[in-house]
Amino acid sequence: MGRVVQKYGGSSVADADSIKRVARRVVATREEGHEVVVVISAMGDTTDDLLDLATEVSPSPPPRELDMLLTAGERMSAALLAMAIHDLGSQARSFTGSQAGVITTGTHGNARITNITPGRITEALASGHIVIVAGFQGVSQDSKDITTIGRGGSDTTAVALAGALDADYCEIYTDVDGVFTADPRILPAARRIPEISYEEMLELAAAGSKILHLRCVEYARRENVAVHVRSSFSAKEGTWVKDLKELTVEQAIISGVAHDRDEAKVTVIGVPDRVGAAARIFEAIAVAEINIDMIVQNVSTVGTARTDISFTLPTGDGEKAIAALKVIADEVGFADTAYDDQIGKVSVVGVGMRSHPGVTAKFFGALAEADINIGMISTSEIRISIVVDQSDVERAVRAAHTAFGLDAEGEAVVYAGTGR
Ligand code: ASP
Ligand code: MG
Repeated sequence: MGRVVQKYGGSSVADADSIKRVARRVVATREEGHEVVVVISAMGDTTDDLLDLATEVSPSPPPRELDMLLTAGERMSAALLAMAIHDLGSQARSFTGSQAGVITTGTHGNARITNITPGRITEALASGHIVIVAGFQGVSQDSKDITTIGRGGSDTTAVALAGALDADYCEIYTDVDGVFTADPRILPAARRIPEISYEEMLELAAAGSKILHLRCVEYARRENVAVHVRSSFSAKEGTWVKDLKELTVEQAIISGVAHDRDEAKVTVIGVPDRVGAAARIFEAIAVAEINIDMIVQNVSTVGTARTDISFTLPTGDGEKAIAALKVIADEVGFADTAYDDQIGKVSVVGVGMRSHPGVTAKFFGALAEADINIGMISTSEIRISIVVDQSDVERAVRAAHTAFGLDAEGEAVVYAGTGR
């Protein structure tokens, strides 16, 4: 008998009927002879609604209390799903993250899972129960307080449990049929990717693809958990995320095109071109706990010996970055800063790049043909990313997708949800 972990996202359990539909699916899996552990997200937009409610009560709610509040969302759907399963004549038991043995660090709002002690889960499975675990939450090892592990964290809960329980695989149920060669919401010609390696999935997640949480893929790779991303609205095969060595389908040179509109660009203008200036700038940014992505430094102008340094960061950190830079302006001796949040990042990802020359030329050629100007460039061994004007993002995705022969005949189906 196999052991399966299934995770259902908020759009799959948005109302009572959806919860009943998920219950039927879970029971069907149990009846195929599997032990089933289900990780569940909060219903629909519950997490956002709870966040709004919290800020209505208090402009900056204490993080500990915010976690107490938000974890209630997943607890509701876990209990409701257990009830729906009972109604179908099967036995189910719901657990909070803490009861399920999800142990985390103490950073409220963004804790990391450090250990799983799944004793209660294995007991419940052994007595023939379907186990339902509230996703996105755990308990801090030190403070014993309830924590959350970051937005979209239920995916990570599911993969972590699959690893700890030595499950055969982890199914992530969502509102699209799997991982696509581009976001089907903006590109109907996107194709489902049948199989993809952990490395490529990591790059796609980091490049802005919202389908799987970055931390969840890191976890899956570390624990070597096979992840099947598929739709809860259809019975179709989705996308298997596995170790590169275990892939069976022949891999395309480019697996997918990802985009991200949530980045902004900061430019530090007139930086004296001398040793230590860049170090000081990025130290100030690091102290402000801002993660930066791309960096470009212009050649210094002969005569002035000054240069401009631009970097990208999450849009939400823009103000903080500018404030941190103001503090060191005189010390470093730069003239000014500029901020632009009307940018977007477009990336092509594929392990085939390692062995095929000319990928960059093809990508940039397609952009040139579409009359799109490239603002910044960065690469890894299996990724090329560019920054363009935000208004050019969709056209750039389309141009790259067509150039690398990824366009499909049929239209991709988006079943529900907002793509968050
Ligand atoms: N409900 C949480 C969120 O919206 C966690 C999750 O859905 O994975 O971020
Ligand atoms: Mg999600």
